[in-house]
Amino acid sequence: MKNVKGFKCVGCGSEHRKVAGRMQYACPSCGGNLQVVYDYKKIKRSLGGRLGLEKNRDLSVWRYAPLLPLAGTRFAPPVHIGWTPLYRSRCLGRELGLKELYIKDDGRNPSASFKDRAGAVVVAHALERGERLVCGASTGNAASSLACLSSAMGLKTVIFVPLTAPQAKIAQLLVFGSCVVMVRGTYDQAFDLCLKATEQYGWYNRNTGFNPFTREGKKTCAFELVEQLGWKCPDIVFVPVGDGNIISGVWKGFMDFKVLGLIDRLPRLVAVQSGESDAVKRAFEADGVIRAVSGNTLADSISVSLPRDGAAAVQALRESGGFAVGVTDGEVLEAMKKLARTEGGFAEPAAAAAVAGLQKAVAGGKVGPRERAVVLVTGNGLKDVAGAMRAVNEPWVIDPDVADLKKLVEEERWQA
Ligand SMILES: *Cc1c(COP(=O)(O)O)cnc(C)c1O
Ligand SMILES: [Zn+2]
Repeated sequence: MKNVKGFKCVGCGSEHRKVAGRMQYACPSCGGNLQVVYDYKKIKRSLGGRLGLEKNRDLSVWRYAPLLPLAGTRFAPPVHIGWTPLYRSRCLGRELGLKELYIKDDGRNPSASFKDRAGAVVVAHALERGERLVCGASTGNAASSLACLSSAMGLKTVIFVPLTAPQAKIAQLLVFGSCVVMVRGTYDQAFDLCLKATEQYGWYNRNTGFNPFTREGKKTCAFELVEQLGWKCPDIVFVPVGDGNIISGVWKGFMDFKVLGLIDRLPRLVAVQSGESDAVKRAFEADGVIRAVSGNTLADSISVSLPRDGAAAVQALRESGGFAVGVTDGEVLEAMKKLARTEGGFAEPAAAAAVAGLQKAVAGGKVGPRERAVVLVTGNGLKDVAGAMRAVNEPWVIDPDVADLKKLVEEERWQA
């Protein structure tokens, strides 16, 4: 926490000094989420500007250590987090009439989702505090990341997930050795139960947004985008939104770089939500107040009734001059195939939603053909095989007989 000055409430704007040894979750005045406030002068000195970063050979989230709320990198988990590939699109961009489209593949993180960025910082912070156990509620990915990064560091995890979480994510949790509590209820109910666990037992809590450091980890994606684009800022970034912690984190990252003088402009951010689970979109397009919706979507990672970092997400949209897009489950499944077949990327449904949102925004004339656009692919398709199977047809089944094969080839007219 050496470069942290304190916290500023996203809700009421009140500022709070950091108190050594005390874990700061929500705002003591209003209960809102907190934003970490840094001493940028100090950061500037240790980062050493563009040149300092260019010379830094650590290609992971830890290259941004001075910009993280930690004492150091002593408790970095042993796996490689961040600095995920940024691909320049060839086919999809051309199909959409975009000159410069990029795909950031965060499915390449160790637990196969963007959540490893948050997990990295939270786990390191918990260990710096000498914690022995971390609890967290999750639709699946936040938990599997926490489990992946904690176990290897000797940190115990207690996880609360809804009964509906995809199998692969549950399998990860169990293999990594978490205590997995499946809650008969929604993600939102699991979240509240996990808060009560912290009240009851004093366990260190990783809940998205409530723990102010999840946003700090997630902001590293923005840093990477700027560096990977050769110190150019994107014009527009498409982000799948559930709790709103990724989008507010990415915004924080661009703001940090702007304050440090590393970039001189900022992108528009686009929140892509399922039309069934669109509390952030509704708030942004109305009075800015987050109200729970009761929707449900096959894109489980963004299936959230009451976004837990919604206020910060709306602020990110407003400040960046961005907008929100709603997509249907059908559009998500089509986008999943589109990304796979044009770019070789396999996205889980929530990540495919960002691609669907891009397609929809382009169709609506909301993206200029010369804008430098980025779409965040936040999770790997293998995370939810059942979801993927809904996007495609059944395979053919034949006997191991060349006559059967011939029949099939003729019927289907497969030709080289
Ligand atoms: C968590 C998650 C999101 C949404 O992030 P929020 O911070 O909840 O808005 C999107 N995609 C994937 C794959 C996720 O795991
Ligand atoms: Zn407050």
